[in-house]
Amino acid sequence: MKIINDSTCSWINDLTPRINIKTLKSNDDCEWLIIGAGYTGLSAARKLAQLYPNQKIIIIDAQLAGEGASGRNSGYLVDTTLNDGFTSNKQLESYKKKTDIYDLGIATIKKFISEYQVDCDWNECGKYFASSRTEDKKILHNFSDTLSKLGFEHNLLSKEKLSKRLGTNFYNTALYTKGGILLHPGKLARAMIDVLPYNVILYENSCLLDWNKKKDFISCKFQYGKISTKKIIFATNGFLKSLGIKSNYNFPITLTASMTKQLNDSEFNSIGKPKEWGVLPVRPMGATIRMTKDRRILIRNTAEVHDPFKMSNLNLKKRVINHKLGIKKRFPQLPDDIIQSSWSGIVSRSRNSSQVFEKIDNNIFAAGCYNGSGIGVGALFGEQIAIKASEENTKEIETIKARNKPTWLPPQPFLNFGVKTRLIYERYKARSDI
Ligand SMILES: Cc1cc2nc3c(=O)[nH]c(=O)nc-3n(C[C@H](O)[C@H](O)[C@H](O)COP(=O)(O)OP(=O)(O)OC[C@H]3O[C@@H](n4cnc5c(N)ncnc54)[C@H](O)[C@@H]3O)c2cc1C
Repeated sequence: MKIINDSTCSWINDLTPRINIKTLKSNDDCEWLIIGAGYTGLSAARKLAQLYPNQKIIIIDAQLAGEGASGRNSGYLVDTTLNDGFTSNKQLESYKKKTDIYDLGIATIKKFISEYQVDCDWNECGKYFASSRTEDKKILHNFSDTLSKLGFEHNLLSKEKLSKRLGTNFYNTALYTKGGILLHPGKLARAMIDVLPYNVILYENSCLLDWNKKKDFISCKFQYGKISTKKIIFATNGFLKSLGIKSNYNFPITLTASMTKQLNDSEFNSIGKPKEWGVLPVRPMGATIRMTKDRRILIRNTAEVHDPFKMSNLNLKKRVINHKLGIKKRFPQLPDDIIQSSWSGIVSRSRNSSQVFEKIDNNIFAAGCYNGSGIGVGALFGEQIAIKASEENTKEIETIKARNKPTWLPPQPFLNFGVKTRLIYERYKARSDI
């Protein structure tokens, strides 16, 4: 088992390459072991180091830290999402529980970046839920009712206003929410690595192959060594299932995205010189598309069941055709070869879009499965799972506990069949907005 990632993600390639990478080459032991060094694992490590300054904490990743989904996402730190059930009162209640968690997630990231003076291109510019289909106005009106009931500032936008703000005539209807932040996901992940305290050891390129619990110790096997630990936190998100963690409650989905080169003055003028913006689709399989602060356009418009350990260059290239078409539809005036880089990434999903936050067994904990919205929630769950593993309680843990738990999934091959069928159906419904 080996996670092989492409090295073509713009967000990661924007950063200075890291030095002093340590790989596990012999046996080691510790009080705390965290598997997975994305937002969740890094936040858990930082919190544990604060709680236990005299204990040894190891965080370990199969690839380079922060280069999983955390360094390759679209950078929307969300306060609200559209594709959840929210029509009856009961559903309104569960939607509120979800947004309470998003709210805590935003607060966690805000606190982190202000405490450590992090520059991650933070922009509180809000976000748009937009569609090219006028019929989708109905969905947005219902959503607007929900947001009003819950006190989220928002407004519906006409095509004219929208095209001025986004620089494209593609969309016919949209709802703008004031809450929601755009950021540079790679810079955020890098900052979390850079501030790891002295009592945290980071091992990279070291994949957990097997683990077992014997009495009070958990023994973990890696390619070139073993780690024996008293407590363990699994923070492997899209790879929770492959490690047998809550495997009947979460499954991996592969996403792909592309980023254009920086638009030159004439290209930027041709689309009306818009300020930074982010659009999320009204239908689940529509495109996420974003204009960055430095005039690049990001598009993410595929989501599928695929081998989570690797996507070949050839397969990635096939997905890039969709990205190109997505950009062309929205910005026909831009040149055909505008895409500069493309990449894939893995997220974890559950049937009811809920997250994993659990004590699995004595001294064994897991946090993950953010259903594509894991920037804030990942950081929140990371910090709070560390506190939970310390047998402490917080009001954040109470809020997380109040959510609906992930529901049971059918075994393979029924699971993959069901998910694939659903994705095809959703893709068909969103076909104009891919
Ligand atoms: C293309 C894309 C776009 C997205 N857009 C957004 C967005 O706009 N907003 C948002 O909120 N979320 C978004 N997400 C989701 C978000 O990126 C994730 O929810 C979040 O990064 C999860 O963080 P994490 O630390 O739990 O997981 P990851 O960052 O995936 O970290 C898990 C780590 O575990 C490691 N690991 C796995 N198995 C092993 C093993 N056996 N041994 C050792 N290490 C292992 C992996 O290498 C990985 O680094 C997007 C994701 C993708 C892929």
